[in-house]
Amino acid sequence: MAYITGEKGFFESDFEVARQVLIPRPETEILVEEALKILNSGSGHPCPQRVLELGTGSGAIIASLAKAAPCHLYLANDISLSALGIAKKNACRIAGNRVLFFAGDWFGPLGDDPRFDLIVSNPPYIPLADIGRLAPEIRAYEPELALDGGEDGLSCFRIIFRDAHKRLVPGGSLLLEMGFDQKDGLENLLELHPEYESIEFIKDLSGHHRVAKIKKAIDNTERI
Ligand code: GLN
Repeated sequence: MAYITGEKGFFESDFEVARQVLIPRPETEILVEEALKILNSGSGHPCPQRVLELGTGSGAIIASLAKAAPCHLYLANDISLSALGIAKKNACRIAGNRVLFFAGDWFGPLGDDPRFDLIVSNPPYIPLADIGRLAPEIRAYEPELALDGGEDGLSCFRIIFRDAHKRLVPGGSLLLEMGFDQKDGLENLLELHPEYESIEFIKDLSGHHRVAKIKKAIDNTERI
């Protein structure tokens, strides 16, 4: 439906959408709410905090954050140039020029600096075998690139866990949307990474674990 009207309401704004991006889902609003709790708590970090979104798609998450908490610094990327075009337009309209975008895969083009206080992402997390079983309107219209989480659905989380700690300040947070049945998988993956000190899960309105909140250890700054 949203692909026909070309628009989808998300959080407090209407976003332009097209076939090149995932339609923003209501579950993803939980991620935005959790991110705002971190950004508004101050939690010892001075304003502005630096926020990075990986794989921004329509830009719904980062633009919603930049609109609701304008004093922070926002950076977002996507590997798809057509998605980036849509994200830029959305962010510009909704949050002025407060989001910077770059094209690329994960952390690729970022140098050693900057470090971020918060990294957010709704990465592709559908297991390959399940993609064929998605509702026809999802399968037919939504970009597979935004859904395909590899063999077990956890491929992108492996990459993010491997690299995010190098880009977070000590005590910084990682907020990730996840599949409803991926709690154990994510906990097991995190065991391989002593760079992080904790993982918590936030449920969506249907009672499914939907967002993982991971904190980088404070005393482990240069472990690369
Ligand atoms: N929640 C989406 C769906 O059910 C998937 C989003 C994703 O892979 N990031 O289709």
